[in-house]
Amino acid sequence: SRADWLSRALGRAGVMPRAEAEGAIREGRVEVDGRVERDPFAQVHAGSAVRVDGQPRTLEARTLALMFHKPAGVVVHGSDPEGIGTVFERLRPVLSPELRGYEWYAVGRLDRDTTGLLLFTNEERLVAHATSPQTHVPKRYVAEVEGSPLDAVLQKLREGLVLEDGPTRPAGARLLAPSHVELVLTEGRHHQVKRMLAAVGHPVRTLHREAVGALVLDVPEGACRLLTDDEVERGL
Ligand code: URA
Repeated sequence: SRADWLSRALGRAGVMPRAEAEGAIREGRVEVDGRVERDPFAQVHAGSAVRVDGQPRTLEARTLALMFHKPAGVVVHGSDPEGIGTVFERLRPVLSPELRGYEWYAVGRLDRDTTGLLLFTNEERLVAHATSPQTHVPKRYVAEVEGSPLDAVLQKLREGLVLEDGPTRPAGARLLAPSHVELVLTEGRHHQVKRMLAAVGHPVRTLHREAVGALVLDVPEGACRLLTDDEVERGL
């Protein structure tokens, strides 16, 4: 099994988040193979015998993922359990107790004012995969825009347009109602939806993400749920 730093292994196994684990280790509360280990970066593996406050704990890691309905007004950082005004401040209180010990990583970003589906996982390597420019998972957005795009504009969004950082990939675009555009993108460049719609003369007023791959947002704003193993396999 994979070797890891003690503090990170405790987070991956859901014993406690990494930052908390670092404190506990430095305080001498963690034993590895029968002796107190005060170095958070000491190497351990899944088979190491670990005790926290005298209680045996397993370092067996499970790959988990959550869907969270992000409210507006919170910033998404990669991983920041302490941050004020970040999405983690909203996520932590709605986690069920058995999920609080994990270190959670946001899969990609949504802008501060964007609402909707945001995925989290305890497996850092999944984040790198899911957010790589080579991964083309479709992401479905609904934007309320200024004006109401004509068919020719929707066609242009579908075929792709040239932004400062290059051409966009073909996308899905349709009008759901006047001023309400559904966009399906298979890439996730910085502010991409806003930049595409601004480029065709329809600046975004509000933006919401409804789906990522096969995962469709199905929890109320501010709430989260654990994905099934099946959803994790197909969706991340
Ligand atoms: N595109 C944007 O412009 N903003 C987001 O939050 C997501 C996609």
